[in-house]
Formats: sequence, C-alpha cells, structure tokens
Amino acid sequence: MRNAVWVLVLAAACAPRPATITPTPIAGQRADSLEVPNAIHWYRNAVEYRAIAREVYRLATEQVTRQAEGLPSGSWAVIMDADETVLDNSEYQRRNAVRGTSFNQETWYAWAREQAAPPVPGAPEFTRTVQRLGGRVAIVTGRDQAICPETEANLRAAGVAVDVVLCRADPAFSDKNPRFRALADGTARAGLPPLRIIAWVGDNILDFPGLDQAADASALEPFGTRYFMLPNPMYGSWERLPRR
Ligand SMILES: [Mg+2]
Repeated sequence: MRNAVWVLVLAAACAPRPATITPTPIAGQRADSLEVPNAIHWYRNAVEYRAIAREVYRLATEQVTRQAEGLPSGSWAVIMDADETVLDNSEYQRRNAVRGTSFNQETWYAWAREQAAPPVPGAPEFTRTVQRLGGRVAIVTGRDQAICPETEANLRAAGVAVDVVLCRADPAFSDKNPRFRALADGTARAGLPPLRIIAWVGDNILDFPGLDQAADASALEPFGTRYFMLPNPMYGSWERLPRR
C-alpha cells in the first residue's frame, strides 16, 4: 500500500501535467480553445517555440560535431530525454486542458499507445547526424517499462534515430543518474560497450547529471557546450518551486 502511494505521488510529480491558467475569451475564438492555457498554446502554435527548438538543436549539432572529432566510431554517445525533448506530447496536454482533466496514468498510457507524438523540431536531424558521426543515441526517459515498446515505435515513426531506449525500470524511482552511469560503464544493455558521453539534451534540469532546481551558475556552465535545454513551459520540476 505504501509503495502504491509513492507510485502515485511520483507519477504526479514527474509526469506531464497541464497548467491551470485560463485565458480571457477572444471574439471568434473556437469554443474548445478557450480552455487552452498560454503555455500549451505557445508550445503548439508559436513560431518562436519552433525557432528556439531548431536553434538549440543547431547549436548541439555544432558542438557534438566538434567534440566527436577523433573519437572512434561506436565509442561515444549522446544522452537524450524523450518527452518534450524529442517527442512533442502537447496534444495530450491540449486534450486534458479542453476536457478539464489532469494527468493520470490511464490517459497517459492511452496517449503513449497511440504512438502519435510528432518530433520536436530539429530532433530527427540531430539524431541522424550523431549516428552519421559514429555516435550512439541513448534515450533515457521517465516513461515506464509498460509503455516502452510503444515509445520506441513512436520515436522511429517520428524519424528520431535511436540506438537504445532506457525506460524507468522501477515506477517509484525516477532518478536518471544510475542509467547515465550504466551507459558510461557499459552495463546498461547487453551488446553496448562503455560509452563516452559527450552531450546531454533535455527539457528538465533533472535530465542532466547531478543537477536539480538548486543548480547555481557554476553548475549551469556546461549549457551550450555539453548540455542543451529545450523550452517546456507546460510542466516540469520547476512547478514545485515557491511562487514568489
Ligand atoms: Mg522531458
């Protein structure tokens, strides 16, 4: 029972959830769009979002190309988060917003099983470049094992090139650091050698080794060279911060 409670608490804390702001109605606006908060509207519709995503992936491509120079093919990897890093689940957020519902495991699994998430702009091209340069693409995701096969299928359908997808083995344990270490140690998956990790890409500070919301300026130093952050105004570990 206690474990079940923790599963619920962690699922609520770590998984995509809708924001709660309701915009002012605008004349001529579709009735079902009235409940879509600005964060979801921006993510789904603003050209600024698509420009930023492409900008981040362009910078990541330049840096990875530079850092991979001279490294033996197959010896190195880039670690990437899945949701809102390479897959765009804003349709799931929109559905929750217009229905007045919140994230729950049943509807989240149903969405994952649709395998309908499109790619984040720039992500497919980046992953293909990593592989062409001789690197591996490792996806380390908060998604459970229960939806891992559908997640892999969605990634491939979206044109994201992947070598390995590490889903969360224990639903109550969301920390990605042990999986980061397993990839470096060569213990993540049979057939995968120890990998030199040259870059991380995510949309949440918890997608980066050893970092959390308390990270100071020096801890943020690798962003733009080895760490690359996509914007996600819809949900994240930032939601639990004090609202000053
Ligand atoms: Mg994410």
